[in-house]
Amino acid sequence: MSTIAKNIAKVRTRIREAAQACGRDPESVGLLAVSKTKPAAAVREAHACGQDDFGENYLQEALNKQAELSDLALTWHFIGPIQSNKTRPIAEHFAWVHSVDRLKIAQRLSEQRPKQLPPLNICLQVNVSGEASKSGCTPEELAALALAVSQLPNLRLRGLMTIPEPTSDLAQQHAACARLRQLRDDLNLELDVLSMGMSDDLEAAIAEGATWVRIGTALFGARDYGTPTH
Ligand SMILES: *Cc1c(COP(=O)(O)O)cnc(C)c1O
Repeated sequence: MSTIAKNIAKVRTRIREAAQACGRDPESVGLLAVSKTKPAAAVREAHACGQDDFGENYLQEALNKQAELSDLALTWHFIGPIQSNKTRPIAEHFAWVHSVDRLKIAQRLSEQRPKQLPPLNICLQVNVSGEASKSGCTPEELAALALAVSQLPNLRLRGLMTIPEPTSDLAQQHAACARLRQLRDDLNLELDVLSMGMSDDLEAAIAEGATWVRIGTALFGARDYGTPTH
């Protein structure tokens, strides 16, 4: 078995065990493979193991990979920061966007979503840890943003996403994910998605209700930002 195949098997086992430990159906937790900085060949290899959903952060890199992999039926998720002048290719080339944190971006994605495609699935990114440097709307901004986004015609608001402050403290991992779930529940908008949990905290995230875990390192190995791949 290749390293990627072994890693996928390990991550699937972690997801299944975490779901079973809290009485959840393992099928209710989707695995989003985060392939940023990794070559198209790594995505192809993961797809050969039955992985269909891939997350990318950098637009040009993602578009290049999509072109190289156009023979495969893959579902692409955009999970990185979004500049307003880059919304059109995102609206045209992705099925999901997890990182919407302001209305202007959502409006542009809705206007630019091609009419022949299904609505673009949207998660609103929330900054639950309150670090000034990170993207995501504040919990205080969330209700108004969610209501406005839920009314845009070519988007389908599915839920919330967060990137908590990295910590090895399990209680803190749980607290950040529980916060996102509570914010989702308080919205009363029938949102079925919580995008939370990465390589190091997927167990806590699943215990708190994650429906997408976004896993990069545990599948594809450490990222090398020194060598440009895009
Ligand atoms: C890179 C990235 C991930 C994957 O993180 P790992 O720790 O490598 O699993 C998940 N979500 C987002 C938004 C990312 O940018």
